[in-house]
Amino acid sequence: MPPLVPPHGSESVKPLLLPETERAEERKRAEKLRKIPLDSRAVCDVFMLAMGAYTPLDGFMGHDDWRGSCLDMKLASGVFWPIPITLPINKDLADGIRANEQVTLTNAQTGDILASMQVSEKCRIDRQIEAAHVYRTADPKHPGVAKVLDQGDVNLAGRVMVLSEGEYPVKFADLYIRPAESRAMFLERGWSRVAAFQTRNPMHRSHEHLVKIAAEVSDGVFIHQVLGKLKAGDIPADVRTRAIRAMIDNYFRPGTVIQGGYPFEMRYAGPREALLHALIRQNFGCSHLIVGRDHAGVGDYYGPFDAHHIFDQLWDGALLTKVLKFDVTFYCRRCHGMATAKTCPHDPGQHISISGTQQREMLSTDADIPPEFSRPEVVAILKEHYASLRSMGVAPAS
Ligand SMILES: [Zn+2]
Repeated sequence: MPPLVPPHGSESVKPLLLPETERAEERKRAEKLRKIPLDSRAVCDVFMLAMGAYTPLDGFMGHDDWRGSCLDMKLASGVFWPIPITLPINKDLADGIRANEQVTLTNAQTGDILASMQVSEKCRIDRQIEAAHVYRTADPKHPGVAKVLDQGDVNLAGRVMVLSEGEYPVKFADLYIRPAESRAMFLERGWSRVAAFQTRNPMHRSHEHLVKIAAEVSDGVFIHQVLGKLKAGDIPADVRTRAIRAMIDNYFRPGTVIQGGYPFEMRYAGPREALLHALIRQNFGCSHLIVGRDHAGVGDYYGPFDAHHIFDQLWDGALLTKVLKFDVTFYCRRCHGMATAKTCPHDPGQHISISGTQQREMLSTDADIPPEFSRPEVVAILKEHYASLRSMGVAPAS
């Protein structure tokens, strides 16, 4: 049986979560150390490090890795890395921290102890470099750029030992699949060519079509949801999971698709983020990543296919997980079936496509959603969710 794609830059995945038997003692030690409160993005990054999704990183990046990652998409070691993973804190807090001090990382929102970190470096960064190279814009209206511009003045770097995965493993018991586990699941099924589909939304016919094309040329598909912080108006993870499950159960052959989730917070960095998504999927054991139009973008900061082109600019061996590039997908009345802009020669007037905003409106007013756009089993679950919002007097954001 051919092997799975190896982890990124390492022979094995490197989860930084301390073994359970050692956690209690380390936690006692951590309680007495200086506490560093983390925002939602850094909290997610700790969980990504914990599960080994950021292999081969062993903690938050120092100056050279940050700079290399921004400018050349490379760590100081030469390993490919397209978006810096950093821990910014404010200057007053940073001033008190000594070199080599052991500190405790906590969730700023809950106060929970997450990890301990050996501080190897405190560095100031030029935020404009990060914005210009990673996000390709300095516009503070871009949500990823806003986060960079608002962050503290000092990046704290060092090796991390994770003590808790927070509520994720319990809250998302069926979805929380760590890279070592997804690899074991793929091997158990005899898969080696595995395509990943990234989503943070329920899946409609167009998404189903992409996954089915990938399934035709792979051993199996990993439908992989983002479980980190959502944008206002996004469908909650439990509803989304049920909607995706309904699609898999009714429209896919058993044993061809696995649904999972990962604790990542989107940066909306478009092309650079598509690369990071592929790198992460390599750690999960996926040989391919499905990248459609406008992958991981926001607004009109990126061209619709920038996230395709950037894969062609990498050096040999940068990334072993390959891209599966797709054009925009829809149902065409003339084709009498699902098609893409690459294959369908007909007038766009023949295409059934509904924007996210239109769809939310249709769901919230209980309007009919055509089966060519979304499967009735999926629509029923989404309508139930919108009805519960209405009954609670919550207006869904558009
Ligand atoms: Zn057509």
